[in-house]
This record gives sequence, structure tokens and C-alpha cells, in this order.
Amino acid sequence: MRRTASILHLDMDAFFASVEQRDKPSLAGRPVIVGGTGGRGVVATASYEARVFGVHSAMSSAQARHLAPHAAFLAGRFGAYRESSRVVMATLRELSPLVEPLSLDEAFVDLEQADVDVADVEAVHALATELRSRVRDRTEGLGCSVGVGSSKFMAKVASELAKPRRGIDDQVEVVVPGAELETIAPLPARAIPGVGPVAAARLDKLGLRTVGDVRAASMGELVRELGQSWGTGLAALSRAEDDRPVVSSRVAKSISVEDTFEHDLRDRPECRAIVERDAGLVCSRLRRSGQFARTITLKAKMADFTVWTRSVTLEGATDSVERVTRAAVRLLDGLDLREGVRLLGVGVSNFTTSAQEELFVVGDDGEVHDEPVVTQELGEVASGPFGRRRSFDGRRWYPGGDVVHEDLGRGWVWGSGHGVVTCRFEFRGSPVGRVRSFDADDAALRPAEPLPLAWVPPEPVDVEE
Ligand SMILES: [Mg+2]
Repeated sequence: MRRTASILHLDMDAFFASVEQRDKPSLAGRPVIVGGTGGRGVVATASYEARVFGVHSAMSSAQARHLAPHAAFLAGRFGAYRESSRVVMATLRELSPLVEPLSLDEAFVDLEQADVDVADVEAVHALATELRSRVRDRTEGLGCSVGVGSSKFMAKVASELAKPRRGIDDQVEVVVPGAELETIAPLPARAIPGVGPVAAARLDKLGLRTVGDVRAASMGELVRELGQSWGTGLAALSRAEDDRPVVSSRVAKSISVEDTFEHDLRDRPECRAIVERDAGLVCSRLRRSGQFARTITLKAKMADFTVWTRSVTLEGATDSVERVTRAAVRLLDGLDLREGVRLLGVGVSNFTTSAQEELFVVGDDGEVHDEPVVTQELGEVASGPFGRRRSFDGRRWYPGGDVVHEDLGRGWVWGSGHGVVTCRFEFRGSPVGRVRSFDADDAALRPAEPLPLAWVPPEPVDVEE
């Protein structure tokens, strides 16, 4: 914990849903649910209007439909979210070189590296207010909440306290140094970093429901129930003691496992088994470190000692063995094994200390899957599901997807089925548009890219992106 409120946390409000409302004038002020639109899909983001009905992220789409049958259910437009995210992150980097993105819509900023007197709480508040309006301008209308405090914990608590309340557009909260304990005491124990549903349930059994309850508990009790390191860590956090630094994701640390072989390998199933095992080892070390990685790297040394490396960067940080293994195996698919491999290694890097909110992709079946999207394959053309979708030359219509019609112009897919696709012809900044239906194979109607934002981040934006 610092003596000044100098760590800032920015969190976009209902990010994916807000992007959709921004780009679809008829959805402004209406319940919007982004996520899996099929039978087994889950909600990625619900707009505030949908949350009123009890819809929240990670809920099954079926339940969301039951709660909010009149909401717009959209499959998601990842390219549009990523573009707005880049604009937000670039705007944060103008404040300070020390920016730690946690996900597409959330980041910490170290204001000690910023051009502001962090001892001056009013100046910090003004900076946060100015930041919000800059983000709104550059993203062409997206809202965010900004919290500032003396630690990461406090900054995150502050941005949560700043979240939209009805009729108030002042989503900035600064926890003044000295006010930390009274600020966190009434919050649920789950507000403590690292306390998930399981830990919260255990605390609840002990009658510890708020942060204040945890602080008042005896250290002996916490250690007995939660173990030495977690018990003492929790006790410290409940006293607002948090010294975690803001770590720029540009400072990449990595975890890797390599094997050198007695003889050169040419057999693909054998190499694949090694890569799978190495990915498992890397993930168990990653989990022990308490971190989540965005970048997965495969390294190979060939029989002639040339070194081959390829990386993929996921949109969301993960510690999932399946996800890391899948990415590593996909990289291996791009390696020509004919001349023989003498070394194989799997590495992860680009760490964050929290997992990405569940992301999702639209698969070939039109169903939305909650797996991270491969956005970049160094040395190769992107081949993630959205890459396929972009190059898809057939007729596949996703609810919410962008379209262009030869005569009617730009619009979006409102619904489709039984050989018919229904579109609404409107776009960001246009009046609310009319709805028209077409044959699903009408040649005048084409899938389109999202309308780009006017403000383009200066180069270089981000070394990992
Ligand atoms: Mg958010």
C-alpha cells in the first residue's frame, strides 16, 4: 500500500453490449445480451438494461432468454471489441508507460509514472474524469468506470464503487489515503483479490461475510481454515495491505519446458505427445505461480541446428491446460518435420494476475464457443475462427453481424433461419433503421467488416498485438 492514491483501474461498462448499442442505434437503452446464441451458449456480457432482469455474464443463454425474452441476443463481433479495446489501451498509455491490461476492457495504470501530482487528490480526480471523457470521445461513445487508490486492491474496489448508478454520470472514485479500511470493511469478502466462490463459501461457514469480518477474525482461525500462506495473505489484504506492483505487459517473463532428444524426431504423433506433455508441465508451473498467460510459444531446434519459433497470442489470459495445449499443438502443425527435430519446447509468457472474462468465438457450426480467439500467429496468416469467418465466402448470418446491401447500404443481421435473413439498416451515428428480409442467398447482401473508429492509435500500439 502506497501513501498516495497513485494506482488507477479502468473498467469499461458492459463492454461488449455497449459496443453493440453504440453501433446499432435501435438498441440504445434496450436490453442487449452478447454471447452464445445457441442452446448451450453462455452470456458473455449483458447490458445494464438486461441486468435489471437478473441476466449476468456466465449465465446460460437459455436462462437469459427465459429472464429477458425481449432482449436482443447477439453472437458478438470480436473485431469491433478488439478495435475499441486497442483505442482504450493506447489512451491509457498516453497517461503512463506503466499500463497492465487485465483483459480487453480492464487495466491498471501506475500514476507515479504519470504527469500528475499524486499527492493532490483533486488533481488525480480531475485526471480520471478527463480520462473518461477522452475514452468516450475516442471510442465514439463507450462508458467506463475509473477507480484510483493506494494499491491494486483499492483501485479495483474504487472502480467497482464508481460503476453506473442510475442517473449519475460521475463514474470516478478515488479512495483517499487513510480511508482504505473504512472503505473495504462493509464489502463482501469476495471483494478481496483471490477470493472466489469456493473461498467465499468457506469464509461464510466461519461467519465471515464482509471484509471487516475477515479483518476481525483471529489469524489462528484463518490459518487453520485456509492454510498458512493463504490465511496470512488474506489477513493482510483485509487490512488493505497490498504491495503488488503494476507490471507492464511489455515486460514479458516466461515459463518454458524444453526437451532435447537423443536422436532426431520425424514422427508427428511422437512430437505431438511431447508437446502435449510439455504444455501440461508448463501449465502446472504457471498455476503454481498464480498467473495467467496470453502468449504461447513453440520452439524447435532442427537437425541442422536452425531454431524455429512460433507464437500465438490469445485475446484472453488463461491457465487452462486444454487451451495452452491446443495452441501449442496447432503451432506444431505448422512445423515441417521431414529434416528432423532435435529439440522441442513449449513456453508461455505475457502474464496477467487475473483471468480474462470468458470470451467466445463463433465456430463453423454457427454456435458460440467459450474459447479464446487466436488473434495472431507470428510468421503466419491468422487462422483463428474469426479469421475464417472473415474470409468466409458463403452465406452465414450471425445475429448482430455487419452486412452491406447493394441498395440499402450498411446494416446488421437481426435474425435468420428457414432460408431467410432479416436485417436492420442502420449503423453507428445513423437514425434508427428499417427492417427488411431477404433470401439467405440474395446476392445483393454481403457480410461486412465493422465500421472503423475515426481515432486510430499511433504506432507502435502494443508489441504483443
Ligand atoms: Mg468491464
